[in-house]
Amino acid sequence: MANKKLLILAGDGIGPEVMSQVLRVVDWLAKKRNLVFDISEGLVGGCSYDKFGTPLSDQTLEAALAADAVLLGAVGGPKWDSLPFEVKPERGLLRLRKDLKLFANLRPAFVFDALAEASSLKTELVTGLDIMIVRELTGGVYFGEPRGIETLPNGERRGVNTQVYTTSEILRIAEVAFELAKKRGNKVHSVEKANVMESGLLWREEVQKLRDAKYPEVALEHMYADNCAMQLVRNPKQFDVIVTDNLFGDILSDCAAMLTGSLGMLPSASIGAADAKGNRKALYEPVHGSAPDIAGRDIANPLATLLSFAMMLRYSFDMEEDALLLEKAVKTVLDGGLRTGDIMQPGKAKVSTSVMGESIVRELNKLV
Ligand code: NAD
Repeated sequence: MANKKLLILAGDGIGPEVMSQVLRVVDWLAKKRNLVFDISEGLVGGCSYDKFGTPLSDQTLEAALAADAVLLGAVGGPKWDSLPFEVKPERGLLRLRKDLKLFANLRPAFVFDALAEASSLKTELVTGLDIMIVRELTGGVYFGEPRGIETLPNGERRGVNTQVYTTSEILRIAEVAFELAKKRGNKVHSVEKANVMESGLLWREEVQKLRDAKYPEVALEHMYADNCAMQLVRNPKQFDVIVTDNLFGDILSDCAAMLTGSLGMLPSASIGAADAKGNRKALYEPVHGSAPDIAGRDIANPLATLLSFAMMLRYSFDMEEDALLLEKAVKTVLDGGLRTGDIMQPGKAKVSTSVMGESIVRELNKLV
């Protein structure tokens, strides 16, 4: 079988530092598990602007389209803040997501026992928490037409955005959620505002129809978005998979993420439609940004990027065993008391980015 093609885009700020730790694991997989990837590296964001005058060059975009999966660090920083909107580093990332047609954003909210105390909720509410939020990424009110700001005849200004979803957009995201649920806790909460929005009512009806026709074994509950926000902080462990639209997903995934207490620990995946062979384009990235305040000091937490890589092994390459090994290594290192500064707790050992990466590889060696 041909090697899997992996494009690495480390980006700006702490991106290259955290990505170096992933490359240690890639090396380890080649040496110890005989898993060799065809790796290419490219520029995106501010570093791409500096070299090519654009945050995403055609060359990088082509490489992304040709890759089996893309792993991205982070983009942006004060150096590029005053650039025109179209060439800001973040535009490169948005264009990448758009051109890869990534319509589903997967954001796990998983609490490692060793870090349960970092949550703003009571420890017992979050210990063992494992939620997957599936957010629709390319439709809804962020893209709907008509949109804009107009001046009315009476001089008043009026801003308009349109929430719009079609059956096929709803079905393809719901399918992703049901398929994930089958491999997890077999439960989906579909979240909308069917009580006040027609698009929400359509969403509810279509998700229910799909479940009845294709996924009768998966438990489905419908929930209004406002109630979901409340339930996430009241009793988050009731959820397994949450599927929701672009706007509600934007808000609820950030809310769920913070239940885990640390930005440096949160991975994510964005995936596209399956091609004729069933392969999907996919982009994996930590939820955090380029953290310019700590960049270049070897103190950033690499675990969100390593956990994003574990998601890639699982979802793009079907390497469940290796994904689990990496997640177990992260858990063991945390249980052993090693912490980067952002997740430091009293009595634990503060380590650098590179020592954290080395420790993960050391743990992997013990596990295999
Ligand atoms: P940020 O996530 O970069 O940082 C927020 C805070 O969290 C900072 O104090 C930072 O030091 C800390 N932090 C973040 N990741 C960390 C890690 N791995 N280890 C330790 N500490 C970590 O968000 P911001 O400060 O709002 O944005 C900084 C830049 O990143 C901006 O240019 C922004 O546009 C960009 N950004 C990019 C992405 C992305 O690439 N996907 C996402 C968000 C922000």
